[in-house]
Parts: sequence; structure tokens; C-alpha cells
Amino acid sequence: MSRTGSPNTPTTAPVEERIPFPHTDAPLPCRTNPQWFSHDKSAGAEEDITRAKQACRACPIAKGCLKWALFHPEATRVGVWAATTPRERGELCRRLKERLGENWAEAVARRDEAARQRRRQARWNPPPSRDTARQRALSRLELELIPSRPAPYEPWREPITPARAAANRAALARALNTKNAA
Ligand code: SF4
Repeated sequence: MSRTGSPNTPTTAPVEERIPFPHTDAPLPCRTNPQWFSHDKSAGAEEDITRAKQACRACPIAKGCLKWALFHPEATRVGVWAATTPRERGELCRRLKERLGENWAEAVARRDEAARQRRRQARWNPPPSRDTARQRALSRLELELIPSRPAPYEPWREPITPARAAANRAALARALNTKNAA
């Protein structure tokens, strides 16, 4: 359990390991103002529910929080979680069942795991960037079109040739003349 203020939350509720509560260091409204979140709707306090819902809308982990709440109906029987009341969460579960079948939780957990694996894979084997691929294609094309083309001069790697030294001296002289004339 990662938020306080749910006094009726059973501590023995089963935990779905595959859907952990999202981590954040941000100060969550449900921790700073738990009284807005912790009541049952039947007890009234519409004003608090409205406040809680508004606060959830700006929460950085609202999406993960909602998923966690839907996966843990026993632990979230009361209170506002991710801007939803228990009735609204029940309705969301009903729609998930309609779309994904009775075993919707399994389907969502599997899809999440696949997405995690794809992200891990992308981290270890990043796809070549489009610029690099385009650059490689252009280089190949250049070689195909002008196979006898000499390699470009690389001033930082290759010793300077007499012709290059003469060209540099001429460029320097031109620059000095222009400067003197100004
Ligand atoms: S979405 Fe709402 S209930 Fe969930 S962590 Fe954020 S503030 Fe708390």
C-alpha cells in the first residue's frame, strides 16, 4: 500500500505483484490530504470527493494508480483512487470485462509485461537513428556513383602536403591584404 488515509482498507487484501503501485517522490495529495480520499461515498462528503478528484487529475502517477486500484478491488473498496469512486471503478471493471473477457486482469498484466520487455530490449539494442541510416545510405550512393573518388582530406589526421601548404599561404596572404586594404 503506497498511500495513507484509507482506514477501511483491509491489510490482508491479496497483492498483484505484476502491477506494483507506481513510485514517485512527488508529494501526493492523497498523502498530504488523506481526509479527502478516505471516506466511503455513502457517508456523504461530496465536497471532499470533488477535491480529491481534482487533486488526482494533476497527479503524475494517476494512470498507474488507477490500474493498481482496478487490480486491487479488495484494497480499494472505499475512497477515491485516481479520480474515481468505488462505483466508477466498478463500472470500469465491467467495461474491461466486456472488452477483454472475464480474465481481463491477466490480459492487461501480460500486455504490460510485453511492453516492459520491449522497453528493456530497446534500451539494450537501440534502433539506428534515422539520420545515421540516411547518412550511411548517402555514403554508399556516393561510393557507387564515383568509385574512383579519393578519400576526403582530413586535416586532423593526415600530414599537410606541399600543395595544401601553398594554398594555405595564399589564403593567408589574401586575408592579410584584405585587412590592410580595409
Ligand atoms: S491519482 Fe490520486 S489517489 Fe492516486 S496517487 Fe495520485 S493523488 Fe493519490
